[in-house]
Amino acid sequence: MVRLSFLVGVFSFIVLGVSFAEPKTDRLLKSDHFVINYHENVEYSYVSEVKDICEKYYRVITQEFRLVRDEAWLWANRAKIFIAKDKEEYSSKFRCPIWATACVNYQDKVIYTYPDQENFAAILIHELTHIIFREYVGLGKFPLWLDEAVSLYMEDKYSDDSRPRRDFTLIERAIAENSYIKLTDLNKVTALTLGSQPKDYVNLFYSEAFSIVYFIIKKYSQDNLYRLMYFLRRGYDCEDAVSKAVYSIRGWEDFETKWKRFYQE
Ligand SMILES: [Zn+2]
Repeated sequence: MVRLSFLVGVFSFIVLGVSFAEPKTDRLLKSDHFVINYHENVEYSYVSEVKDICEKYYRVITQEFRLVRDEAWLWANRAKIFIAKDKEEYSSKFRCPIWATACVNYQDKVIYTYPDQENFAAILIHELTHIIFREYVGLGKFPLWLDEAVSLYMEDKYSDDSRPRRDFTLIERAIAENSYIKLTDLNKVTALTLGSQPKDYVNLFYSEAFSIVYFIIKKYSQDNLYRLMYFLRRGYDCEDAVSKAVYSIRGWEDFETKWKRFYQE
């Protein structure tokens, strides 16, 4: 069996602000754009490293999206990071699914996670991308897979994590066996429905999301991805934004056909 859980990078979970009370943690570390809340058992040196990574990628991802903010993440507008004592506490206290290495509330700019994970930079890049992507395109409605795909892409681009994110064996096989998630179904997956799915489905969901964005960039170009984001920002729905960003794509059906063909060649 292939190492399914390592096919893609960070598995994260998007939470909705309203039902999510802010948990109490013991200690605080503040920087220009972040307030890090952490359990007293978490080493200060680790938290300090997290702070440096956060500040670095706040700049990098903002520049990548060419985002000009009306309001910087300063003072009361800083993002918050919560680090639990361990995975168990993370799951019980923050109510994040156990399969997710972190979860994010992008509306309130809050990231929940736990320490001693392999390549924390990859996790931070992924979660910060969720927040900054939504800051750029707005809180409009579009499918979860696109949110995840953009975060996986940035993680792939900037993290030195050696996990074989670009191993497309799973998705190629799913296409060959016609067991991939059809685009019409993929579009319906929400954070809520994904949270209750078995791990194999979650794996397939992330692999497929990443494979779609990778397809756009490799078959067309990175500019096409940024054009897609630009049209979302202007209020187009996802299907129209894809067609406007890539002239040769005409709607979801055509998109699915071309994406499948790319992985069958
Ligand atoms: Zn994510």
